[in-house]
Amino acid sequence: MAKEDYYELLGVQKNANENELKKAYYKKAVQFHPDKNPGNKEAEETFKKVSEAYEALKDPEKRAAYDRYGHAAFQGPGGGARGPAGGGGFHDPFDIFREVFGQQGRGGGGGGGGGIFDEMFGGGGGGGSGGDRDGSDLRYDLEITLEDAARGLEKEISFRKAMTCERCAGAGAEPGSKRVTCPTCRGAGQIRRSGGIITFTQACPTCGGSGQKIEKPCSVCRGEGRTPQTTKINVRIPAGVETGSRLRSSGNGEAGVAGGSAGDLYIVITVKDHELFERDGDSLACEIPIKFTLAALGGSIEVPTLFGKGSLKIPAGTASGTTFRLREKGMPSLRGGRQGDQLVRVQVEVPTSLSSDQRKLLEEFARVSGDAAEPTSKSFFEKAKKFF
Ligand SMILES: [Zn+2]
Ligand SMILES: [Zn+2]
Repeated sequence: MAKEDYYELLGVQKNANENELKKAYYKKAVQFHPDKNPGNKEAEETFKKVSEAYEALKDPEKRAAYDRYGHAAFQGPGGGARGPAGGGGFHDPFDIFREVFGQQGRGGGGGGGGGIFDEMFGGGGGGGSGGDRDGSDLRYDLEITLEDAARGLEKEISFRKAMTCERCAGAGAEPGSKRVTCPTCRGAGQIRRSGGIITFTQACPTCGGSGQKIEKPCSVCRGEGRTPQTTKINVRIPAGVETGSRLRSSGNGEAGVAGGSAGDLYIVITVKDHELFERDGDSLACEIPIKFTLAALGGSIEVPTLFGKGSLKIPAGTASGTTFRLREKGMPSLRGGRQGDQLVRVQVEVPTSLSSDQRKLLEEFARVSGDAAEPTSKSFFEKAKKFF
């Protein structure tokens, strides 16, 4: 039977980097580890296969050999499958596993309870900083204009975050230096303390529960595996966002530790006040002054909108304070619904100073109008009569 491709087994691309390999392996290992699948032969087989694949690919030399010769790279003269270590004899995948996770005894030294996975993957125990740790989520506050909120935008943002240390590739060890078994707990990750008649176990203070110590910590990150760095990313802000909108940029938070996944970046939007428009949900409102002659005679005016100029018909006899609706000139709907409207409230302007010509014409207007009153004032004077 043909042996499965190592990259396929791990579910990664041929050009996957060290980190991607490690992550893919962790994921599969968690899924298929015998501790998690008691009595499941198939899971155990898969676990062995992915462990073998990882063991081969994590070593740059072996990986290069595999890329060139395939599985033949690891076959001895006898033709039988050998462990990728090449020296003959099958490499026990559980050893790799312990190596990766920094546990010596399978099931953990402290005994009892959930086994190594529950500790390492947050199932229980808590507190141990020894295993992988996911990176924190980050928040980035972004202030944008109402125009940008209406149209959407793409923007490059730059910020500082904890990123995988380049010197040690996140391992925390000075290049050339190894991880060694923690001398305090001898790799168990836990130590036993005796308090009178009670004996209890606690996370090892030397290694923080990982069971391993770095021989020589990386000089750049001091063993943390991450360093603060400035990074730039492009974010796409969809049309329709409003103040308080939160956009998640998956995986752009802080880097994880020891194969933990990166956090997310949350972009929190603030939309600046606009000098013309007031926003209410998807509606935009503005106030526009019109001449009293236009209000009386009717006509058409140009109205500013966030999407260029619009035109509004003012019917003859428009009262001050009348609100008109420009359909779908408001804010786009973030959820893909109908675009909002723009509400235009007209303010009829009465001239504050008149030229003598204007004065003459208006006096003439008043004379020909005589006592004829408009309907509104008619009804007002009806009601007011009894007070005179
Ligand atoms: Zn480092
Ligand atoms: Zn220790």
